Amino acid sequence: MHSKILVSACLMGFKVRYNGSEKAALQHILARWQQEQRLVIHCPELAAGLSIPRAAAEIRDGNGHDVMRDAARIVEDNGEDVTAHYQLAAWLALKTALTEDCCAALLTDGSPTCGNQVIYDGTFNGVQQPGMGVAAALLEANGIRVFSHQQIPQLVTFIEERERIDDPMQARL
Ligand code: SF4
Repeated sequence: MHSKILVSACLMGFKVRYNGSEKAALQHILARWQQEQRLVIHCPELAAGLSIPRAAAEIRDGNGHDVMRDAARIVEDNGEDVTAHYQLAAWLALKTALTEDCCAALLTDGSPTCGNQVIYDGTFNGVQQPGMGVAAALLEANGIRVFSHQQIPQLVTFIEERERIDDPMQARL
C-alpha cells in the first residue's frame, strides 16, 4: 500500500522556491504522489476557522512544543492572543493525519503552525529562529515524521525506504 503524506495546502500551489532542475524534478514527484492519491492536502489554520486574510501571528517566548503545553503563547501583530485557535489547528492537523493514516507530513517552513525547522521569534521584525510550529510539533510528538518544504529530497528517501521495508521484493528491483 502507498504511504500517505499530509501536505500543507499552501505548498500545492508550488509557490515554493527550489533551485533549477531540482524544482522540476521535485514538482514531478509531488504531482506523481498526488496522482497516486498519497497526498492529504490540509491547512490547519483554515480548518480551525481562521479567516483569509488574517493577521500575522508569531509564537512568543517559545516554540510549538511550548505552546501545546501552555508554556508559550501565539499572538497576532495587533497583540491579540490567538493561542487557543492555533492549538486547535494543531489538533485538527493531527486528527486528519491519523484518520488518513499518514506516516509523514510535508509542511511549509516558517509558519507558527506548519514551521518545522524555523519559526519567527515573536517580535514581528522578520527574525527567524530554529523551532517548530504547533502542528509540526504535535505531529512529531505523535510519531509522524515532519519534513519542511526545503526537505523534499529527504522525504522522498524516507518514503522509499519505508516502502522497501514494507515490500522486500522492491528492494531487489
Ligand atoms: Fe495553512 Fe499556514 Fe500551514 Fe500554509 S503554512 S497550510 S497557510 S497553516
